[in-house]
Amino acid sequence: MFKISNCHRIVVKIGTSTLTHDEGHLNLRRIEALVKTLSDFKNAGKEVVLVSSGAVSAGVARLGTHRPTCTREKQAMAAVGQSELMKLYSRFFADYGHNVAQILLTKDVIDNPVRRAAAEDTFNTLLQMKCIPIVNENDSISTEELNFGGNDTLSAYVALVTHADLLINLSDVDGLYDKDPRKHADARLIERVEAIDDALLAMAGGAGTERGTGGMATKLTAARIVFEAGIPMFILNGKDPHILYDLLDGKPVGTYFAAK
Ligand code: GLU
Repeated sequence: MFKISNCHRIVVKIGTSTLTHDEGHLNLRRIEALVKTLSDFKNAGKEVVLVSSGAVSAGVARLGTHRPTCTREKQAMAAVGQSELMKLYSRFFADYGHNVAQILLTKDVIDNPVRRAAAEDTFNTLLQMKCIPIVNENDSISTEELNFGGNDTLSAYVALVTHADLLINLSDVDGLYDKDPRKHADARLIERVEAIDDALLAMAGGAGTERGTGGMATKLTAARIVFEAGIPMFILNGKDPHILYDLLDGKPVGTYFAAK
């Protein structure tokens, strides 16, 4: 029987829409709550890896400019926003006595066994040093061929590379629904998923309709990657990061994806 209290190494992914206000500025209250909760997980003896989006949005907000209209602009804005993000995380985690470390990945690192092993060593060393690795895609140098197709997928690979016991995806929805909750008032939250089959993927809107059931398609792709590797996953609503305590206490929250 799965118990989160038995999970030692946990990867937590948080997305841009959860980290930022509607106009794109970083949601400091939420980030602070997330940092406090993850710090407490560390204090309780868990190892935490954070996969954080938000670089592009933070860059746009910092520069006071428009959303990027081409790859070159996106790369530049991510470079500005990534350091902004890390500055905040570093400061907030330091308040609770924890050190952070930045790791930026591209897909070729995962695909190349030598580079993947190097990344694995770095994660392990950082975790031994009690650091909290904070991971994002290396958007500033990433091109079509190199990218993961979003941080949901990135977080699944990070779970694999770190040999995590659990992946938690903090989203802007409560979990996986049997239909789009934004369109159907009677949509029902699915508490437990045993297998990610084609029927489930179709229910989530298919891979082509990203926001079909609250951006579920890429989350299910992530769930499928970790399922094969024997790593369970949760989708939880990250609007109040204290929900992680409910999870730790064994309360029924979000959607649980069992592992193979
Ligand atoms: N890496 C992107 C960023 O930091 C986000 C990608 C995603 O959210 O899927 O802005």
